[in-house]
Amino acid sequence: MCLKVCLRIQHCPWYNCLRSGAKKCPNAPNSSSVCTKVVLCARGNCIKLASKIDDGISGTTFERPSFKRMIDDIEAGGITIVLCKDLSRLGRNNAMVAYYTEIFFIENRVRFIALNDGIDTAFGDNEIMPFKSVINEYYARDISKKIRSAYKIQAQRGNYTGVVPPFGYIKNPENKYHLIPDPQTAHFVKKIFTMAASGNGTAIIARTLREENVLCPRAYCKKVLGINRPYTYKDDTDWAKTTVMQIIKNKVYLGHIISLKKTSLSFKNKKPIKVPEEEQVFMPNMHEPLIDQDTFDLAQKVFKIKKRGNKYGFDNIFVGILKCSDCGSGLAIQFPNESMGRPFFSYSCNRYRQNSKYCTTHYIRYDDVYRIILEGIQEKQRFVKENKDDLAQYAQRLADRGADIELKQIRTDLDKAQKRSKELDILIQKLFEQVALGAMEQERYATLSQTYEQEQKLLKTKITTHEARLADRGGDTLNFMRFFDLVQKHEAVTELTSEILHEFIESVVVYQAEGKRLDRTQKVVINFRFIKDSWN
Ligand SMILES: [Zn+2]
Repeated sequence: MCLKVCLRIQHCPWYNCLRSGAKKCPNAPNSSSVCTKVVLCARGNCIKLASKIDDGISGTTFERPSFKRMIDDIEAGGITIVLCKDLSRLGRNNAMVAYYTEIFFIENRVRFIALNDGIDTAFGDNEIMPFKSVINEYYARDISKKIRSAYKIQAQRGNYTGVVPPFGYIKNPENKYHLIPDPQTAHFVKKIFTMAASGNGTAIIARTLREENVLCPRAYCKKVLGINRPYTYKDDTDWAKTTVMQIIKNKVYLGHIISLKKTSLSFKNKKPIKVPEEEQVFMPNMHEPLIDQDTFDLAQKVFKIKKRGNKYGFDNIFVGILKCSDCGSGLAIQFPNESMGRPFFSYSCNRYRQNSKYCTTHYIRYDDVYRIILEGIQEKQRFVKENKDDLAQYAQRLADRGADIELKQIRTDLDKAQKRSKELDILIQKLFEQVALGAMEQERYATLSQTYEQEQKLLKTKITTHEARLADRGGDTLNFMRFFDLVQKHEAVTELTSEILHEFIESVVVYQAEGKRLDRTQKVVINFRFIKDSWN
């Protein structure tokens, strides 16, 4: 953005000659650029000029240092004319341009001239100004859109576009958009997930890494990968809890690429804002995963659960597992309180405890719930052991079901839709290139890309439905086999630990007890992992 500013002059003789036809200007005979003409012309007439240049800063913002200095100078009364090559040099934000040209300059008695656009506030040449300004803004918006759609195309191809690869990965030397496991750090990522999945918090994981002198991602990026970013860290093994947390939450370790997580408010305001998850671009299975889905899910689940210390040194292993049958909230631990007539560790509905109007107690004793769950797990183990052959047959039948005709049809349809979707991606990309090269009219691009994008949208819905149906069918077998493996992996369970609970159990629903004393009955439903709906 370049602005020329005239200093301390009452009138501007050279401008009149420019206005009447720059080519004839006697003081600047053989120059082609308007700006040069102005400079030469001004020199010829002993006029002082000051240039305000903000190189490399977009005209969509008015936060340009030189521009701000110019405004200060105007307010201090040092400037009488602001001259620029064309209106867009003042700025590309319509509302702000209008403010300066229609209010600020007039209030400060500054004459505003945009040479190429024939605008001069001293001659009332400004009717066209609002229109020009709108068009300038339109161009800025258009360019911003083009940049965004270029990113989107990269995202839809599942390309990794970050500067720094995620810790545990490096960029493929043959294709910078593709991630491959980093032999030096991948095993640390695996360790972080295994630790999290077995119930360790971020603080413990971070401390372990520090003690083992593992370089933190920022130090690793700078020292080993040699990527220079404006990073600060206290020392090389400065592992923070948040760093561990970010790794555990990142689906890139499952092999997926998730792009466009952040955007800016608009092309005028570049402040980054978070994009809702459903609007981000998710491309599954783009590179080798470091973590399997099971470990990942387990880590997320254990992670969500807040671990609170207590004065009894009591390990609350059921935290996050027990749920109220009526309101769905968790059951919270109650410590023994003799004076309140509660000599046992027990649980009751958290919502009820916050406000007794909203739910009932759902009271259950700790030792009761412990026994019920332990017996539940033991029963499943026993059942699997005794019916091994039948269960294996059942698994086989489920697998056979996966081969039926209807399923084949779904697979074919899915294949077709996926192929067409890829074709469209390429078409849209090519179209965009054509426009960017100026080989296609904007309007034609708009209509064509709209048609493609509509088709693309329909295909995406189709693909999701097909995939869901496939997962539904295939999922049964897979989940059943997983549970089968899980039960056989453990020797007969005799004691409950946090680890065992989370491995076996999704949730335990506790109902309100009925009857009193000896007639007291209470329903408790255990939802096991993997077999929640199909086999209970
Ligand atoms: Zn409740």
